[in-house]
Amino acid sequence: MAWTFQTDPDFQRQLDQARELIEQEIYPLETLDIDYDTYLEAIRPLQARVKEMGLWAAHLPPELGGMGYGQVRLGLLNEVVGRSFLAPVAFGNNAPDSGNAELIAVATEQTGRTDQRERWLYPLLDGKLRSGFSMTEPGNAGSDPTLLETTAVKDGGEWVINGHKWFTTNGSISDFLIVMCVTNPHAGPYNKCSMIIVPTDTPGVHIVRDVPTMEHPHVSTGSFWGHTEIIYEDVRVPLDNLLGIEGDGFKLAQARLGPGRIHHAMRWLGQAQRAFDMLCERAVSRYSHGSYLSEKQMVQDFVAQSMAEITSSRLLTLYAAWKMDMEDPSSARVEIAMIKYHGAATLYNVIDRAIQVHGGLGFSSDMPLEAMYRAARAARIYDGADEVHKASVARRVLRGYQRVDVPTEHIPTRREAAQIKFADLLAKATSDD
Ligand SMILES: Cc1cc2nc3c(=O)[nH]c(=O)nc-3n(C[C@H](O)[C@H](O)[C@H](O)COP(=O)(O)OP(=O)(O)OC[C@H]3O[C@@H](n4cnc5c(N)ncnc54)[C@H](O)[C@@H]3O)c2cc1C
Repeated sequence: MAWTFQTDPDFQRQLDQARELIEQEIYPLETLDIDYDTYLEAIRPLQARVKEMGLWAAHLPPELGGMGYGQVRLGLLNEVVGRSFLAPVAFGNNAPDSGNAELIAVATEQTGRTDQRERWLYPLLDGKLRSGFSMTEPGNAGSDPTLLETTAVKDGGEWVINGHKWFTTNGSISDFLIVMCVTNPHAGPYNKCSMIIVPTDTPGVHIVRDVPTMEHPHVSTGSFWGHTEIIYEDVRVPLDNLLGIEGDGFKLAQARLGPGRIHHAMRWLGQAQRAFDMLCERAVSRYSHGSYLSEKQMVQDFVAQSMAEITSSRLLTLYAAWKMDMEDPSSARVEIAMIKYHGAATLYNVIDRAIQVHGGLGFSSDMPLEAMYRAARAARIYDGADEVHKASVARRVLRGYQRVDVPTEHIPTRREAAQIKFADLLAKATSDD
């Protein structure tokens, strides 16, 4: 029986190289006040080095220029890449383009639409196009996608799309949008939606604004990582722009989200570990009331608690990844849902404690912690709110239990049964007395 917690030494060497590149070349860029295009210019030469290391776009299959790694290796790589918010660009797996590329790859594998690969996928992988994923609507609970209202109706050789979306990450700087639309309103709740590719410059695509958020309160529309509000008004695109099979929108979304959650959770761990390093460094350096903070029991509690949370999130995530590799994504549903809320909480708690140990400095923008903290808050909402994942885990777990009139472990009932089962023994014991 194989049950190992070791990373293959060759792959560990690649991970160590990746971490060195991130710490030496990418961390310094984080501190500069430059726009995203300038970041890209600085990062481009690093992309060639990542390709030489064999770590470029590792989430993609080899025929698309990726490494075809299983989820465990991808998870371990994302843990390193997650340390810096800029690193995914150097490693060819920045959101939302990486997820959208996976979506198009999965959909075109099903339909054999090589034309869609030529037009959208390859330029996206080459960084020549930028994309957005447009599903959430301001008027409906994103947690329940069966409530989506944006429609796509066939008219001659075209889809006509009408609807209102928001939080389409990178929507305002995208070249195309993958829009989740109701195409079959009379089908069952999970078969009524399809994904349609819409070039962003199509007439009727109205970019309303990039929504200011806790992460970017003073955003100006047209920014990278902006979360865009978009109105689709009589937007016409060819029927050929359907991605995958009509009515399969939710199935496609699931294919994208399962592995995506593992990668997210591992990146969160990378962030949490970076915050943890800051916490510990400060604890051994700051002196107050006769001793270093590291000698105060309450701070030791922060360290011990954070370490346990990081380790448990890491093992849980790698277990989910391992299960996906050994079986299939659907077999790891409960584990994937658990890492979503457990991992998001770990990230949030560890950064919070690191801020606390730094005092006023932690609250200030002189440390990266306050920005990490604001970004971390969103992890409990996107990719499915924590509560929805918790409800899903509870539902699946509870299916394994039967309703009973008397609890199975009720001691008087068990005692009565045991007295019958061991009547002879009890009789003998009594007579011996
Ligand atoms: C940073 C960020 C990036 C995003 N990027 C994208 C993107 O690129 N494309 C896109 O389409 N969307 C994106 N989203 C939107 C995201 O997917 C939604 O915010 C999310 O699905 C929740 O939907 P909602 O905001 O409508 O909240 P609601 O569905 O209204 O939920 C609000 C709250 O209600 C509670 N709740 C809901 N359902 C249940 C339940 N069943 N049981 C218990 N409690 C419940 C939860 O506490 C939840 O947080 C992004 C969001 C953020 C914050």
